[in-house]
Amino acid sequence: MNFIQDFFDFFIPRICPSCKSKLDLTEEIICRKCFLRLNRVSEEKILTEFQDKFKKDRIVSDFMSLYYFEKDKEVHNIIHEFKYNGKFRIGFFLGTLLACNLEAKIRSWKIEYIVPVPLHHIRRAERGFNQSYFIAKGIKSVLNIPIAANLLKRHRFTNSQTHLSIIERRENVKDSFLVKKNKKISGKNILLIDDVITTGSTISECGKVLLNSRAAKIFAISVAIPH
Ligand SMILES: [Zn+2]
Repeated sequence: MNFIQDFFDFFIPRICPSCKSKLDLTEEIICRKCFLRLNRVSEEKILTEFQDKFKKDRIVSDFMSLYYFEKDKEVHNIIHEFKYNGKFRIGFFLGTLLACNLEAKIRSWKIEYIVPVPLHHIRRAERGFNQSYFIAKGIKSVLNIPIAANLLKRHRFTNSQTHLSIIERRENVKDSFLVKKNKKISGKNILLIDDVITTGSTISECGKVLLNSRAAKIFAISVAIPH
């Protein structure tokens, strides 16, 4: 296996998506130096984020995230390479990190389906893939929970949310999603996956339609949240 990897590395060197240095044989996806610099979210931060983003709406029962999303830092660089340069293996790797680090929490939620936050089909065609789906695949590979990728549909195209306020974001994603297979989710606990959860409005909107279709409980996980 190492010989084969060595052989490929010689012709197509594997590069760290953050610092762009060449990966050695023992490094997977991200170099060791950048990996050690990934800034993990504290438990206190998770609690205040849950309070701020989800508690009032009572749609999402609990949520977790692993890293801080800070401009020009490692997590930002890695997610950018993943989303905008088509490096979907990074997404799978991030999914495995989520699952390994948050396994006890996720197991305690008794999840029946993992649902990646869907993209509108125009955006998916632009990007070539749905980033959340690859994160979900990484989680599944560790925890063996089935993915229901076609359960939700994003039927309304929304412009980028980057420069919108919390209220504008909420308005922007309102009624953007619908449930395609109602019967499947009745009484089930669902785990929503996104790369970055910023205001939580996209997750809440997805959760709302799932609860309206009689899902039991909604949980959410992202790779990162803003600092
Ligand atoms: Zn690096």
